[in-house]
Parts: sequence; C-alpha cells; structure tokens
Amino acid sequence: MRYISTRGDQTERTFSEILLEGLAPDGGLYVPTHYPRVDGGTLAKWRTLPYPELALEILCLYVDDIPRDDLRTIVYRTYTSDIFGSPEIAPLQRLDASVSLLKLSNGPTLAFKDIAMQLLGNLFEYELERRGEVLNILGATSGDTGSAAEYAMRGKKGIRVFMLSPHGRMSVFQQAQMFSLQDRNIHNIAIEGVFDDCQDIVKAMSKDLETKRRLRIGTVNSINWARLPAQVVYYFWGYFQATHDNQERVSFAVPSGNFGNICAAHIARMMGLPVEHLVLATNENDVLHDFFCSGEYRVRKSHETFETSSPSMDISKASNFERFLFDALDRDAMRTHLLFADELTKAGRFCVTPKEYAHIATFGFVSGKSTHADRLATIHDTWMQYSLIIDPHTADGLKVGREKVLPGVRTIALETALPAKFPDTIREAINRDPDRPTSLAGLDYLPMRSVFMPARVDNVKNYLVSHCNDRAL
Ligand SMILES: *Cc1c(COP(=O)(O)O)cnc(C)c1O
Repeated sequence: MRYISTRGDQTERTFSEILLEGLAPDGGLYVPTHYPRVDGGTLAKWRTLPYPELALEILCLYVDDIPRDDLRTIVYRTYTSDIFGSPEIAPLQRLDASVSLLKLSNGPTLAFKDIAMQLLGNLFEYELERRGEVLNILGATSGDTGSAAEYAMRGKKGIRVFMLSPHGRMSVFQQAQMFSLQDRNIHNIAIEGVFDDCQDIVKAMSKDLETKRRLRIGTVNSINWARLPAQVVYYFWGYFQATHDNQERVSFAVPSGNFGNICAAHIARMMGLPVEHLVLATNENDVLHDFFCSGEYRVRKSHETFETSSPSMDISKASNFERFLFDALDRDAMRTHLLFADELTKAGRFCVTPKEYAHIATFGFVSGKSTHADRLATIHDTWMQYSLIIDPHTADGLKVGREKVLPGVRTIALETALPAKFPDTIREAINRDPDRPTSLAGLDYLPMRSVFMPARVDNVKNYLVSHCNDRAL
C-alpha cells in the first residue's frame, strides 16, 4: 500500500514514511492510493476474530513495511484488557430494538481517542527505534487530545511530549489527568491565555522549519493518517457484534468534530462493510451539518465558534473533511486543491456544484444537529429508560441517530467518552454525579507536575531547547 496527497502531489510514500508526518508537503492530507475491498468470504472469516486479531488483519492491509510479526506484537501489546478494561476492547450494548451503543471509552483517558492513540504510541516508539531517531512532540490541547496523547506516549523510548494547555481553563478532571503524570518524558506547560494562544505558539514553532528540524519537533494531531485504520477496526468489530450474518446492514451514529471518527466509518464503508447510513451529528458548531444540507462549506471565525457542553466537538473547521471530499470528488486532486487551498484560503468558504452535491449524496451520509437542551434531554431519557448514564458527546450522537433510524436497520451509536469526564452537565441533566472508574478514584489528590509560562513563543522555545536533550529516555 502506498500513500498520496489529496492536493495533487503524486509521490507515493509508504506507511512508515508518513507515520510521523503531519500534512503532505503540498498542504494536502495523506490518503491510501486505494481502499482494499473486503469480500464476503473475508467478512465471514473476520466475524469471529478477537479484537486484536481483527485489528491485525485490517492494519496489515494498510501497513506493508512493518513485518507482520512485529505488527502483531505491537497490536497485542496495545489492545489488552489491562488498558481497555475488557477483552472486547469495544463492547456493544443493546439499548432497544433499533439502537445499540458501541462503547469506545474504556481506555486510560476515558475517551475513544485512546483506541487510536495507544496504537500510535507503540508504532512511534517502534519506528523511532528502527531509525535510531528521537521525536519531541509539541501539541496544544483544551483537554481530550492532549491527555490521550500523553497517556499514549508516557514512558516511550525516543519520545518526549511538550503539551501546552490554557492555564486554569481545563476541567478539574482533565487537568488532574494530565498534570498527575510523573513520567520524565511528559512536560505539561500551562500557558497564561486561552486555547488559541496555545495553538498559535505551536503553529509559529512548526512554521519555523529551522527550529523544527533542529529540535526534532513533531505533532500528533487529528490529521495523522495512522489514527484512521486504527479506528476503522471498531466499525467492523461493532458490525460483527450487532449482526448475525453479513447480509444485514447497519447505520452508525457518530458525534463529530474534526471528522476523524466518521472518516474512518467512511473508509470502512468504502472497503465493503454493509453500511446503510453514516449519521453525522454536530453540536451547536454545525459546520458539517450545514455542508451536508447545502453543499456549502464555511469555516467559522473564532467569535462564531461556540463553547458548548460537548466541548470536544467545538470546532471552527473539520480538519479531516478534505479526505472525504477528495473521495467524493472522485479523487480529483486539482478540484480538491482549488476548493481547499484557493477558495477556502481566499474566501473562508466554498460551494460544490449541484452535480457534485448529487454525487456526494451517494456516499451514505445523513446529518443532524444537537443543542444543549437536546443533550440534557437525551442524557435524562437514557437514564430513565435504561439506568445508563451517557456523556454529552455520546448524547449528541444518540439524539441525531434516533431521528434517522430506518425500519429494519439497526443503528449503532458510538459512545465517545465516559460521563465521569463531564460531571457538571450530568448533574444538570439528572441531578446526580456520574460514577468514576475505581482506577481514577483518587485522581484529584495526586501530586501535580506542570510549568507555567506567559503566552510567548520564545519562552516555550527556550524551555524545549533546555529539555529536548534530557537523557531521560
Ligand atoms: C474528539 C472527540 C469527538 C469528535 O471526534 P472527531 O474525530 O474529531 O470528529 C467526539 N467526542 C469526544 C468525546 C471526543 O473526544
């Protein structure tokens, strides 16, 4: 398997070559040259595999420059009941005759991002050791991504993490999760400012190519290709758990932000998974719902981006969306370039043609929107009906998923976080506290480790310079 850019750079690269990369040199995203098709015989064979074995089969289709035995070791080290709470890794819970919940949030940081990120940590360590290199991961977080990255990279050889977060603006739980890590390769940098200030510093340092190379700076953001095949796995897994044979079709309901999770669903469908609808749910930040309704994609300004009670979906643009549109434009890289590089940069928006819009409609997407009131009502109803507490993001997906249910087609709603991360919203909805997993019971009382600095590039750069040669590894 080889990888190309969505914007026309036809240089074919291997999986290992793009593993540690962000954007392609032409500013596009990496995609495989084609999606491997899975036939009925293969589906039948995969149906009974345990999770890590299924993961190995799917990853092998996308990774052909790591020996299968090495990949097997990596996959089996990643998907354990120790790390994910059960041998199923992603258990399926049937709610009623039409809807099931796929539980993706039993990893170390209680959100679905762990499933891909834990694999990424092991893949990075393997690849860096193979090359004899080290990597300093620089990132900015408002909560979920940063903690998933830190828990994936903690204690890994050849890797240091420098994570910027807005001082005093994360939830108590999120801050405790990150700052309580004592691993010497993890550096929490609390910035005096808001999330955008953190992100601006990361962007400034990544643009400075000389510094980037000298300090061996890399990132682990949502556009990294390797996260996608890791997420494709649980769509196949969820399908097999929810159905009896491979004639049945299902729909997936996915609470979406940067379009990473649902992009993996699209890829699974392209590979031949019998999917009826991909139900895309947004919160008040409805860039994507707007697009699927109208064919216009309009990036929001920061003052138009709402702070909501499903904060991990508070996006102004959806960084993985270009991968889907590239496919839906029949892989026309010139057109993708024109829309994303030219029109979007110039005008902050673009429209697809009516003909393109009609073609996009054949890819199975339907969309809807969920507001704070919807979220509270869905959490409340789910608690009343099933004695089950769901988190606000999962509620967004479930709300829209239920609206789009078709007779005779089971909907699998994705649980993307545990309610323990968002106690305020849960209290507002059902007037009680969510349970915390016992492993995290004493989290608030652990010693915390972070450094504080003003929102200035120079301060962060100096900190990196003085710590990026630590022999801690
Ligand atoms: C990241 C995240 C999302 C959004 O996923 P995307 O891949 O960005 O679309 C939804 N829910 C939770 C809890 C998340 O952490």
